[in-house]
Amino acid sequence: MPDRPATDQDLDAYLEPRREERLERLKEFLRIPSISGLPEHAPDVRRAAEWLADELRSAGIEHVEVSDTGGHPIVYGDWLHADGAPTVIVYGHYDVQPVDPLDEWRTAPFEPHVEGDRLIGRGTGDDKGQIHAHVVAAATLLATGGALPVNVKYVFEGEGESSSVHLDPWLTANRDRLAADAAIISDTGFFEGNIPAITVTLRGLMYAQIDVRLAGSDLHSGSYGGAVSNPAVALAQIITALKGPDGRIRIPGFYDSVVEATPSEREAIAALPFDEEAFRTETGVPALVGESGYSTLERKSIRPTLDVNGIWGGFQGDGSKTIIPATAHAKVSTRLVADQEPQDIFEKLKAFVEAIAPPGVEVSVELLGTGLPSRTPTDHPFVGAAMRALERTFGRAPVYINAGGSIPIAASFQRILGLPVILEGFTQPNDLAHAPNEWLALGNYEGAIRAIVATFDEIAALDPATRGGDRRSTDG
Ligand SMILES: [Zn+2]
Repeated sequence: MPDRPATDQDLDAYLEPRREERLERLKEFLRIPSISGLPEHAPDVRRAAEWLADELRSAGIEHVEVSDTGGHPIVYGDWLHADGAPTVIVYGHYDVQPVDPLDEWRTAPFEPHVEGDRLIGRGTGDDKGQIHAHVVAAATLLATGGALPVNVKYVFEGEGESSSVHLDPWLTANRDRLAADAAIISDTGFFEGNIPAITVTLRGLMYAQIDVRLAGSDLHSGSYGGAVSNPAVALAQIITALKGPDGRIRIPGFYDSVVEATPSEREAIAALPFDEEAFRTETGVPALVGESGYSTLERKSIRPTLDVNGIWGGFQGDGSKTIIPATAHAKVSTRLVADQEPQDIFEKLKAFVEAIAPPGVEVSVELLGTGLPSRTPTDHPFVGAAMRALERTFGRAPVYINAGGSIPIAASFQRILGLPVILEGFTQPNDLAHAPNEWLALGNYEGAIRAIVATFDEIAALDPATRGGDRRSTDG
């Protein structure tokens, strides 16, 4: 294999005349309504997988297969001829969200079209445009220099919008052939103002239901009031005990495994262009509140939270009804940060609720869902490589994003394969992902292709002695 990497001029000479051609290819991909959550679209999901597999083969990627998972397939392919260079896994998903409400789309969701610099259609940014950029990047490198600077294993999932149900078992079953040095996940985006960014933390989730029970049916408040406990009051007492007025969660041990942000990470957050008052106005809330000692950006990103998502019980009709409710219920969820374990947090919540439950009622706590948090240290060499690649490509210093939401698959790559994850995504922050009129900036798509090439170059140039980073902080 030639070891002369393609120059920027080679890349431009290849890419520039092919803009329209690759846009047409991407549109073809986008026209396949691969909605993984709707069973009637299963054949479309399969068709999108086959389309993507063909696109990888045409790019020159080897060992391409549409791998069965028991659910929607995973498209795998690799190119492993960069002897001595690092190996990266590239992850994205080729399935998309449903399109309803359909009447809010200005044009048909699966008829992608260009308006100015925007390509509009379901899946443009989330995530077909991003994975297509990866395929184009590989095709470009192979066509111009005959080689990739690093070894690459592509893992493109068909259940990215359906909780990735079969991803973990598939990763586990394929652990050997997925050996790598890092995973690049392209399913996130840039910071406000289209500032290029690497997402370094994601929050996990623990979702539970609290049920408080008094009797088999509502009781007359005249006949029983004063002599029995009230489930609605008991539930209110439990909920108010979960969090203090200082915004600290009072479940014993809740913060035990939280990895505190380093001073330099907190400085980077403080330096972000974030307009707190604009955020408040846009949200429509009277005031911003949260955990003392942390900024708004920190509270909604690097700190764990606890919220009541719903609460009900007793009489809720018009007028009045003098009862003591038989039961009362609440949905309670926490956003978690590394290294909190959702199962452990659930058990701590359960034990605390049982301990503080007032007498005279029965209380139960049930786990409804979990998602693992993830964290990649900003000083990890692969993060540095991606940051330099973004700066080279987009001509401005990228920032770190600490995302408040969850992408549990990031933790899957960390835990099952033991890899640091580099969340290098390319969409605009207001790209309407999951919503009507989803769009992808064509400039970001074109930039993504070049940034991916640059990322591979930067990773190939890492010092082999130090490129492993500090594994301790990525294993959790
Ligand atoms: Zn996505």
